[in-house]
Amino acid sequence: MGLALYDTRERRLRPFAPRVPGEVGIYLCGPTVQAGPHVGHARSAIAFDILRRWLLASGYAVSFVRNVTDIDDKILAGAAAEGLPWFALAETNTRAFSAAYDALRVLPPTVEPRATGHVPEMLALIERLMAASHAYAAGGDVYFGVRSLPSYGSLSGQAPEAMAPSEPAEGSAKRDPLDFALWKGTKPGEPAWETPWGPGRPGWHLECSAMATRYLGAEFDIHAGGLDLIFPHHENEAAQSAGAGDGFARYWLHNGMVNTAGEKMSKSVGNSLAVADVLQGVRPQALRYYLGAPHYRSSLDYSLAGIAEAAAAYGRLETFVRNAVDALGGIGEAEALALGTDLPAAKAAEESFTAALDEDLAVPRALAVVHGAVRAGNATLGGDDRSALAGWLAAVRRMLEVLALDPVAQWPAAGGGDGRLRAVVDDLVQVALAARADARGRRDYAAADRIRDALAAAGVMVEDTAEGVRWHLR
Ligand SMILES: [Zn+2]
Repeated sequence: MGLALYDTRERRLRPFAPRVPGEVGIYLCGPTVQAGPHVGHARSAIAFDILRRWLLASGYAVSFVRNVTDIDDKILAGAAAEGLPWFALAETNTRAFSAAYDALRVLPPTVEPRATGHVPEMLALIERLMAASHAYAAGGDVYFGVRSLPSYGSLSGQAPEAMAPSEPAEGSAKRDPLDFALWKGTKPGEPAWETPWGPGRPGWHLECSAMATRYLGAEFDIHAGGLDLIFPHHENEAAQSAGAGDGFARYWLHNGMVNTAGEKMSKSVGNSLAVADVLQGVRPQALRYYLGAPHYRSSLDYSLAGIAEAAAAYGRLETFVRNAVDALGGIGEAEALALGTDLPAAKAAEESFTAALDEDLAVPRALAVVHGAVRAGNATLGGDDRSALAGWLAAVRRMLEVLALDPVAQWPAAGGGDGRLRAVVDDLVQVALAARADARGRRDYAAADRIRDALAAAGVMVEDTAEGVRWHLR
């Protein structure tokens, strides 16, 4: 069947065919960095991280561009209120976003362009729009003339007559209330760049058109962002690029909103919506599961109870993986055993998982398949069919890793978050634990304790439990 994606412009599921076979270019609208990330930002990032990982797993090379809007009215106002230079506030918040993305295992973009670094591209786009009579300078600003482009409104499905003006008209020199600013004339004390139309700074919509085409070309595959960006932001991006004669995005994808009406906004830990605060009380893998598990186009009613349910569901997956790895004598053993295993039921599960993600990234269905596989795997725990257990474990880990939820990759690694390194450490610990078990078998308790103490000195804490020996990093 192959992948089909819901295209906002055509309002239907379309078979996905990239412009260049085997290669996909994606532009995702990144944050305006007037503050750090909240759960809504994280949901959008995770939704399209799953798209990217699924494309990678399906064999595509993916160029993923996610911008940073680092100049904006809110950044200027916020910086003034805090007594900081505007770029200092933007930089601090950009780093907070990167930290949240890393914690939630969102892959770093291929390139992360900043608006202030792409003014020449923006000015070149304005020149092209002026040459095509879609843009005009007035009162120090430059505007896009909406009525000059008959296709305006086609992305959001509205006629210009039905639209509310995207920006207040008072004090502006625009010819039509629907026109939007490509470039804003500077006000005293604000940062400004010199242009043929006077000093000023970029309009938000122009930034994304300029940065997307800079890195992905005049026409590219997928433009993504939150549902709240369809109008006016994406409509205006599409208008600018169409006005300049660029093909621009071939598919428009939008993620649903996180509805926070049920939870009070607050700075106190427990009900803050800031990712950094939520992660004080919730493991990142549980938050990733919570935000990534619903279908990306559905709206999500944020609740702490929902996060707790997600944590429990993730815990069931993690417990199976932990028990299976322990029963099979380590990650390396389990992987080696799985290589020689032919388990038709596990293969069928992976095919169902593929079919689910191919249908507009139906993660809820895909996760139901994973939980089913975990139940089947749990049923083989404690039996003597080691290869069946290894087969289920491998299938579960492969499926979960597409969602960046493989528990092994999430286990704390010595010296970083590299899952392969963790696998090596796990296997080395298993060697030491086997030597310790041998020593105990010969009743050489001094030797057994020396091994345990050496592991502890290296930060590996060994625990004897009813289910066997467990270890964790200190
Ligand atoms: Zn954008």
